[in-house]
Amino acid sequence: MSDQLERLAKLPLRENLRGIEPYGAPQLDVPILLNVNENTHPLPAAVSRAISEDVSAAATDLNRYPDREFTELRERLAGYLGHGLGAESIWAANGSNEVLQQILQAFGGPGRTVMSFPPTYSMYPLLASGTDTTYLAGARGEDFGLSAQSAADQVAAAAPNLVILCSPNNPTGTALGLDVVEAVYEAGRASQAIVIVDEAYAEFALSGTRSALTLLPGRERLIVTRTMSKAFALAGARLGYLAAAPEIADALRLVRLPYHLSAVTQATANAALKQVDALLATVEDIKGQRDRIVSELTRLGLKPAVSDSNFVFFGGLEHSSATWQGLLDAGVLVRDVGIAGHLRVTAGTEAETTAFLHALEALVSSAPKTDSGHDS
Ligand SMILES: *Cc1c(COP(=O)(O)O)cnc(C)c1O
Repeated sequence: MSDQLERLAKLPLRENLRGIEPYGAPQLDVPILLNVNENTHPLPAAVSRAISEDVSAAATDLNRYPDREFTELRERLAGYLGHGLGAESIWAANGSNEVLQQILQAFGGPGRTVMSFPPTYSMYPLLASGTDTTYLAGARGEDFGLSAQSAADQVAAAAPNLVILCSPNNPTGTALGLDVVEAVYEAGRASQAIVIVDEAYAEFALSGTRSALTLLPGRERLIVTRTMSKAFALAGARLGYLAAAPEIADALRLVRLPYHLSAVTQATANAALKQVDALLATVEDIKGQRDRIVSELTRLGLKPAVSDSNFVFFGGLEHSSATWQGLLDAGVLVRDVGIAGHLRVTAGTEAETTAFLHALEALVSSAPKTDSGHDS
């Protein structure tokens, strides 16, 4: 047991928090950080200037509480999403993680269940523990795929109160077909399941990938979550949001803390949303680097998954932890998601991506060759 857990064990902690570890992607001081799927391109200077000006104007009024309803921000987010959505269908919080937490506070809790399909975002079970919601791990098929039939059968059998579908999925990178979302929504009818589609990486999807936003009309139990942390390059600003039926936002008003979105956060997000085109200009470049990683890894005999995101999950490594360490020694931090033979890398700038590919090629060509990975 770690020192930290040993100290924790002495406290009268809630039963369902005992023995669990906090979320902890390593924050190491390494030249090339490709481990948490940030947008590694710095903000365009014009955008950071516009943000500074608006934040500085907001500073004059910091003696007052901010707009509790963040009306301007909801209008701007609705305008950005399109699909005929109005401000009443939008809700936001400090990162989409807080949005998810609020959804679990309102619809989960003691005696209730939330289901998702690992390998998926590692925060889902932690958010479940934090809200005392029982976490149900569904199963995926070969190559970590999830078919509409399998997902629907599992949801019908488990009758969960909530289902979280991550699309594009983290850590595998692949988007789900909307047939999966539709089938899960129907299968959840009996348990009145709230179905959340976490679209944190939607802006990076391959062309032709449709957003679950198109399914919202007529589905009052469906929620689509988004974030400004990835494509918008604003991970440090902490702004996540959702689109759903207006009554979902009303439910979240029951659990949010008063004035949860600070005036500084609102000013930052609003300023960024006035500059959407400049901010999203890096997305095409990142998609290009992502596609380059997929083709280069294939050339090296590795097995990258189809990626609709700004990262690539790949298998075919003989010793993935040794490869992770070798990359770190070369100054490149990637993510070991705990799946044997696999690693996950964020698509960086062209120079960062080149450094990663060179370091990996050196490691793979010096390692003894085997003809198969550890695909489960
Ligand atoms: C990065 C990520 C998020 C974003 O979290 P924020 O709290 O908005 O920074 C949400 N979901 C998934 C699957 C992610 O990978």
